[in-house]
Amino acid sequence: MQLTHKIEIRPTPEQVEYFKRACGTVRKVWNWAIAEWKRQYAAGHKPNAMALKKQFNALKYRSPEWLDENGQPWLKAIHRDAHAQPFAYLAKAWNRFFADIKAGKPAREPQFKKKGRCRDSFYVANDKFRLNGKAIRLPNVGWVVMTEALRVEGKILGATVSRTADRWFVAIQVDVSDAAFYRSRTAHGVVGVDLGLKSAATLSSGETIKAPRSLKCALRRLKIRGRRLSRKITAAKVCAGFAPHAALPKGTTLPVSNNRTKLSMSLARLHARIANIRADFMHKFTTRLCRENQAVVIEDLNVRGMLANERLARAISDVGFGMFRSHIAYKAKRYGTWLIVADRWYPSSRLCSVCGWKNEDLTLKDREWVCPACGIRHDRDLNAARNLQRLATATALPVASPSGNGGTAVAWSLP
Ligand SMILES: [Zn+2]
Repeated sequence: MQLTHKIEIRPTPEQVEYFKRACGTVRKVWNWAIAEWKRQYAAGHKPNAMALKKQFNALKYRSPEWLDENGQPWLKAIHRDAHAQPFAYLAKAWNRFFADIKAGKPAREPQFKKKGRCRDSFYVANDKFRLNGKAIRLPNVGWVVMTEALRVEGKILGATVSRTADRWFVAIQVDVSDAAFYRSRTAHGVVGVDLGLKSAATLSSGETIKAPRSLKCALRRLKIRGRRLSRKITAAKVCAGFAPHAALPKGTTLPVSNNRTKLSMSLARLHARIANIRADFMHKFTTRLCRENQAVVIEDLNVRGMLANERLARAISDVGFGMFRSHIAYKAKRYGTWLIVADRWYPSSRLCSVCGWKNEDLTLKDREWVCPACGIRHDRDLNAARNLQRLATATALPVASPSGNGGTAVAWSLP
């Protein structure tokens, strides 16, 4: 079982310089590989990532594009793993793209990476770095301080150094044993979870889970800083002689003031903080669900489809539904909890959770409704959560070991 432990590192200014150059190399190699791939494809060839890598290795120390002003190959100063890995990732990206097309899913071609717009990162293979408590020895830069020691034990597979705003991280991939991966449950309930926008979730037990308040505060500040930055950009546009709202011609760059650089960094830090608060909340919530229940029933929300609706998109990504799904899937496995995903068309809001009568006239606006068949007053979200929970009890659950260890999680859908 593979786990990744992401640890913040505290590099020296010289180490940061090297990291930045390594990330730039990754970007440049990736862009070269995509351009070459597309060129070969357009010429009727069948490009493949490993052949591209060979082709690149033949020219990387020779071609003028990869030489500095003194005619020296500048790639030599950057560790090999940083310029080899993009090819492996490119192969993966194309495979995923073609698999998605084959499966009829919306597919996105691998994209060119743009400086400042893409994720800055580079890869280091497992035999190229060493750990010693709260320090990691990376190629070309030596020992770098980590904010904590690696917490997972097992066979180390590799590491990725990355940047978020002005902080640097190393994510270490570890192949852990089953004993280290599986965890014990503390309770064995069955719960239905209705994800919502008003409260992050309603549980079939009647509990409502609210998204953290700090998220809301941070979002307000995000708006203010975003507005300030866009005002600065507009001002720069006007100074350069463009209309305030006109789109800039391709290739135009506006002069960037120091204050604008500072402001965009503070915006990036705030974005990172919001992502951290959200991730922290989702981790704790999904861990709790899996640790305390032998079965968790959730709805199969069409997150991508909902994100296409502009008015819903912001609210949904604020709550982090996508993150919820990926977290709960691996934690269910970890705690041996059954994860039951109700079919997208299961009318969890429309059914009366007491008598089963179906309310065909329910609209998104109705927060409460009264069942005409049995006279019960329903809170919309709680009723949905109870219906989801009923799915689990209606399904004969295989007997799992009480500790949860060794159990396997499955997802199946019901009509
Ligand atoms: Zn009823």
